[in-house]
Amino acid sequence: AVVTRFAPSPTGYLHIGGARTALFNWLYARGRGGKFLLRIEDTDRERSTPEATAAILKGLDWLGLDHDGEPISQHARADRHREVALELLDAGKAYKCFSTQEEIQAFRDAAKEEGRSTLFQSPWRDADPSTYPDAPYVVRLKTATEGTTVIEDEVQGTVKIRNDQLDDMILLRSDGSPVYMLAVVVDDYDMGVTHVIRGDDHLNNAARQMGIYTAMGWPLPVYAHIPLIHGPDGKKLSKRHGALGVEEYQAMGYPAAGMRNYLARLGWSHGDDEFFSDEQAKEWFDLKGIGKSPARLDFKKLENLCGQHIAATDDAALLAEIEAFFSATNQPALTPEKKELFKNALFCLKDRAKTFPELIDKAAFVFADRPIVPDEKAAKNLDTVSRGILSELTPHLQNASWTREALEEVLNQFAEARELKFGKMAGPLRAALAGRSVSPSVFDMMIVLGREETLARFNDAAN
Ligand code: GLU
Repeated sequence: AVVTRFAPSPTGYLHIGGARTALFNWLYARGRGGKFLLRIEDTDRERSTPEATAAILKGLDWLGLDHDGEPISQHARADRHREVALELLDAGKAYKCFSTQEEIQAFRDAAKEEGRSTLFQSPWRDADPSTYPDAPYVVRLKTATEGTTVIEDEVQGTVKIRNDQLDDMILLRSDGSPVYMLAVVVDDYDMGVTHVIRGDDHLNNAARQMGIYTAMGWPLPVYAHIPLIHGPDGKKLSKRHGALGVEEYQAMGYPAAGMRNYLARLGWSHGDDEFFSDEQAKEWFDLKGIGKSPARLDFKKLENLCGQHIAATDDAALLAEIEAFFSATNQPALTPEKKELFKNALFCLKDRAKTFPELIDKAAFVFADRPIVPDEKAAKNLDTVSRGILSELTPHLQNASWTREALEEVLNQFAEARELKFGKMAGPLRAALAGRSVSPSVFDMMIVLGREETLARFNDAAN
């Protein structure tokens, strides 16, 4: 069975590049009945913080990328990493190296002088243990000195690295602490990871990590090193391109489904499909569809997809998401009455809103309380003549049945009788109902507000 993992280092927020890596791993596992695991790579004690871990978990949670089991702390597994290094030592696949920093530097200086490779070659590699001094040592892996390491990467293709370009990497430092590269391999093996999907900044690490797998006689995972994300200008993604943290996108009110759809398309494609559901993404996602060159961030595309997802979400789910948005952005919760009205209004709000704030702004007629205060433009539509029209119209609505068709009929008849273009009436009606010159359709607003509230607003505006 497929097992993938996301292995962030908790040193900041959840970067959108990291979120995309997590999404690819999640889609790959979820589409194959596999497991998606989470490992917090907190071995760097200086830079790792619990706040960063919390931010990453929160970001994944918002994006809906659920992981199986408890998150693994890499740091907590240091004893196990050490155990593997000692096993390699016992098996003669690793050795104790007593060379001091000064000796290593001297080796490099001499090599440079003589025009040889400056990769350190330890004199302790084949030393007789009886000659070992009583001094600190590191444990190094005995790396093959000849031949090539071949990475069969699902994205990058066949990548070859000459073994004489790899030094005998340190597994345990002189204080006995395991290095990061060892931890990654041991954790991936113990967690049963079958597919390592990660940024191509780790491609070179793969060659070294493979040495540990081989020495332990462990099967290699499938590797897929994905190109990093670039800014719209094709340059390496940075702060000046816009928001980098997933939580910023949440705060801007992009729907998580739109974000997932957009991130899935960022570097992966399935024919010409742009807009798709999670179910489709899980079914379609594969490693072959991942491009070899860096994808560029495209905010227009993100907004377009988000708009389509908002329109496609059913009202109850959309309401729940918007309430979560209010709470995540520390805005007061909706009162039960407003919530009910808002829910009934969603049908006329969700088209053409790319973000939740845009949708909420269109709902101003729901959130405003009487008396409605018109903005400057709307106020121009409430001159004496318009106010007269409003008061004359009101009696016609007193007994009308409150359906869209009936209301259209009443208003059209009224306009005809008064020899008014409907367009001429719409401005004052909008101003009375929403206090704005741009709003959802007058009929939609009347239906949502109901007879009593509608007539009260007309009455307020007329007087
Ligand atoms: N912790 C590494 C990172 O955040 C990922 C290592 C891996 O996926 O093997 O870049």
